[in-house]
Amino acid sequence: MEFYSMAFIKFKGEQLFDGYHLLNDKVLICSEEGEVIDLVDSADAGEEVNELEGIISPGFINCHCHLELSHMKGRIMEESGLVDFVYGIITQRHSSMEEMLDAIDKAETEMLDQGIVAVGDICNNNITAAQKQKGRLYYHNFIEASGVLPELAPVRFQHSVDLFREFSLQYSIPVESNSIVPHAPYSVSTELWESIIHFPGNHLFSIHNQETEAENEWFRNKSGEFNRLYSQINVDTSSFQPTGKSSLRSYLPRFLRNQSLILVHNVHTHEDDLQFSKTFSSDNEISWCLCPNANWYISRRMPPLDKLMENDCRIVLGTDSLASNYQLSIMAEISRLQEHFPHVSLETMLRWATTNGAKALQLDQLLGSFEKGKRPGVVVIKDGNAMRIL
Ligand SMILES: [Zn+2]
Repeated sequence: MEFYSMAFIKFKGEQLFDGYHLLNDKVLICSEEGEVIDLVDSADAGEEVNELEGIISPGFINCHCHLELSHMKGRIMEESGLVDFVYGIITQRHSSMEEMLDAIDKAETEMLDQGIVAVGDICNNNITAAQKQKGRLYYHNFIEASGVLPELAPVRFQHSVDLFREFSLQYSIPVESNSIVPHAPYSVSTELWESIIHFPGNHLFSIHNQETEAENEWFRNKSGEFNRLYSQINVDTSSFQPTGKSSLRSYLPRFLRNQSLILVHNVHTHEDDLQFSKTFSSDNEISWCLCPNANWYISRRMPPLDKLMENDCRIVLGTDSLASNYQLSIMAEISRLQEHFPHVSLETMLRWATTNGAKALQLDQLLGSFEKGKRPGVVVIKDGNAMRIL
């Protein structure tokens, strides 16, 4: 008996990844609008099954991007190291509005084509807002504040609040999809930090974490390459007091209870940092976002994946921006990790790209897995590439 109406669409791949496990001999049944109706054994699926080569998977979650930097593709040399990369972003980010908007549109289309359905996107201005309003992808907008001069904290914070209001009111992006976040531990004064964490409704944070060892040196004893960066851009750092501890150990206790965090990069996160972070995991849900292609681009380094896995960290994936990447593709991030960590299974990495990412962006009621009622998008993975099919 044909149980499922012909209005449903059925997919069968060589394998199916449901958001948790790679399964054999399963058929996904969706409505035309993409709602998951059921996941059944092939024998129970009836007729008209679309049989595809490759692995069927829920759409991918890109937990870290800077869509507004898309026009900077190829501008900054590879292997520059983080400090010179940051300097390059500060000094080379300007372009004509036309060029920037065109690059944003192309970058978003690339993400869609590569099976990405949701993005955690860093925003310093409003130039991505009109694109986001089209609703082609889900976004959580992390409105980024930075500034090491304590006297500038009120102005910098007000700029972020204005941007938050613009996204929420003028562009009608739901309030809960926007947060004000600190750029990085080394770029935010104590005064600015306090304003950010106490901003009403701020429940989900993203912060660039330990992307370079220089960040730890800065916090431990105010030494290392950040001195060079701040003197290059003429910033007075006399108000910064070193803590004698690593970056993560210095700033993690300064978040409030129940604030969820996405820590991005973690290339120089060490075992004692991971142990320390566990004392916060009951109060603060922490996701560890890896952007391996950006790390490769900037410093030819990889994050300590085995240590993160041994410590049961919730790993998620991000592309970072086109300023430090060759493309915006989660499958390309997985390929880079597979190259360096061949002992980690594809099933595990797909979990980071789907269910874990959806939890990190607090979109798991809708995205990340093939469970009844969700609309996670349907992707087929073949030869290391992904393609959105629903
Ligand atoms: Zn970034």
